[in-house]
Amino acid sequence: MNDRFDYPSARALCGLLLILLALGAPLRAAELNVYSARKEALIKPLLDKYSAASGVTVNLVTGKGDALLTRLQTEGRNSPADVLITTDAGRLYRAHEAGVLQKIASPALDAAIPAHLRSEQGDWYGLSVRARAIVYARDRVQPGDLSSYEDLADPKWKRRICIRSSSNIYNQSLVASMLAAHGGEKTDAWLRGLVANFARPPVGGDRDQVLAAAAGQCDVVIVNTYYLAAMLNDKSAQREAAEKLKVFWPNQNGQGAHVNISGIGLTTAARHRDNAVRLIEYLASTEAQTWYAEVNHEYPIRSNIPVSKTLAAMGKFKADTLNLHQLGQHNAEAVKLMDRAGWK
Ligand code: FE
Repeated sequence: MNDRFDYPSARALCGLLLILLALGAPLRAAELNVYSARKEALIKPLLDKYSAASGVTVNLVTGKGDALLTRLQTEGRNSPADVLITTDAGRLYRAHEAGVLQKIASPALDAAIPAHLRSEQGDWYGLSVRARAIVYARDRVQPGDLSSYEDLADPKWKRRICIRSSSNIYNQSLVASMLAAHGGEKTDAWLRGLVANFARPPVGGDRDQVLAAAAGQCDVVIVNTYYLAAMLNDKSAQREAAEKLKVFWPNQNGQGAHVNISGIGLTTAARHRDNAVRLIEYLASTEAQTWYAEVNHEYPIRSNIPVSKTLAAMGKFKADTLNLHQLGQHNAEAVKLMDRAGWK
C-alpha cells in the first residue's frame, strides 16, 4: 500500500490535479488554426466575430494558395492547421488530391450549400461564388455583338481581347469548364481562335485587363466581376476606368456564365475538428455571408442572401451549374491545351 495518499494534503493535491485536467481539456480545445489564402482584411473580421461568439481562439496564418498547400503537404500529420481557406475549386481539388483534406460530415452544410459548389468527397465547401464574365468597352462594343465565351474565338474579335496569363488558375478553371462542356477537340479549336484574337501578350491581373480596355488597348476582357466591383467603389483612376466598361453575361442561352468559388477544407491533420466544423458552419451562416457579399462583392453561397449594390447593378444572370469538382479533374488537360494554343 502506498501510504503517501493517506495524507490529506496529497488528496487535496490529487483533487486539484483532477480539476485542472478537467479544465485543461476544454481550454486546449478552445483553439483553432486557420491557413488562409484570402487576404487578412477579407477573413480576419469574420474570424474575430466567430471568436467573440464562441470563445474559441483563432490563430490565422495567411499566404498564397499554392504556398499554403505546399506547406500543408510538407508538414503532413504534424501540421498545426485545422482548416485551409483558399480560392478556386481547382486549387481545393489539388488539396484533395494531395491528401491534405478530410471529410467534414456536416448535415447543416450539406443542406445550406448546393451540391455543385462543394467537394464530391465532402472535404471542402464553397463559401462564396465568383463569376468570370465578359466585360466590354461601352463606346466600342454593342452588347448585341456578344453572346458567349465560344464566340470570342471568332475572327471579328481579332486583336480586341485582353486576358491575364494561362498560369492563372481562374483561366485554367474557365478552360476546364469548356472541356467539361465540349470535350478536347472543340476546346482546342476554341483556344486557338481565342488566342489569335488577343490584343497583346497576357500581362498583369484582372484589374490590369480592365485598365487596358479603358485605355483603348482592347475592347473586351474576361475578368472576375468582384475586381470590377472593387474598382467601381474606388475613388481613384480605377473607378474612372471601370466606369467605361460594362458586364456582359455570356452563355445565357446555354450552360450559363462560368462561376467558381472561394472555399474551405478541413485538414487531415486537424486537432480541433469540432471547432473547425463549427467555424465552417459559421462562415456559411447568414451573418457571415451577408458581410462577405457586401465587403468583397462576391455572390453569397446561398441564393437567399442579398448581394452588394454594385453587384445588383450588374444584373441577374444564369450561372453554370457544372459540378466544380470537374474544374479540378480537367485542370491538367486545360493547362496542356492552353500551352499548345500559345496562351502565354
Ligand atoms: Fe481574385
